[in-house]
Amino acid sequence: MTQARSHFQEELRIIPAGWAVAAVIAFAVCQVAFNVLIPTYVGPHDLPPRPVMPLIGIVGGLFLAALLLLTGYVYADSKRRGMNALLWTLLVIVIPKAIGFIAYFLLRKPLLAPCPNCRWPIGSDYAYCPKCGYAAIPSCANCGRPIQRDYMCCPYCGKAVAATAT
Ligand SMILES: [Zn+2]
Ligand SMILES: [Zn+2]
Repeated sequence: MTQARSHFQEELRIIPAGWAVAAVIAFAVCQVAFNVLIPTYVGPHDLPPRPVMPLIGIVGGLFLAALLLLTGYVYADSKRRGMNALLWTLLVIVIPKAIGFIAYFLLRKPLLAPCPNCRWPIGSDYAYCPKCGYAAIPSCANCGRPIQRDYMCCPYCGKAVAATAT
């Protein structure tokens, strides 16, 4: 339980500061709108009884802030996973009823892992490190098909691979 909680807090930390500031501002604007602006312009007689408007302000403000934080999370998370951050951020904003967010969490790529040779982040489907050329998925030098690091010969073409698979 505590581990899940600290993982959640760690995930929250990737939200860019700009998005967090925007969430705070959105919450504040909601409070001003529902407590000051709307009562001033609409007039007290056309409004629901006293505690309703501040309550709408708080609930609406929290909803808006959570939406901004979640969108900021999608932006940072898609970026660190080597996905198109701008495209996914636009998609989760544009697609209604949270379907964009659901699609994102279903379709997001696994986290990039550091290259064992140079620490550059590489995707799970990369065959080679884009920075140093390290073979993340070793392949047979003869037929080019993926093989395991401890194979002595290629299971597809039968050539000895111990010397070539580096
Ligand atoms: Zn590398
Ligand atoms: Zn082969």
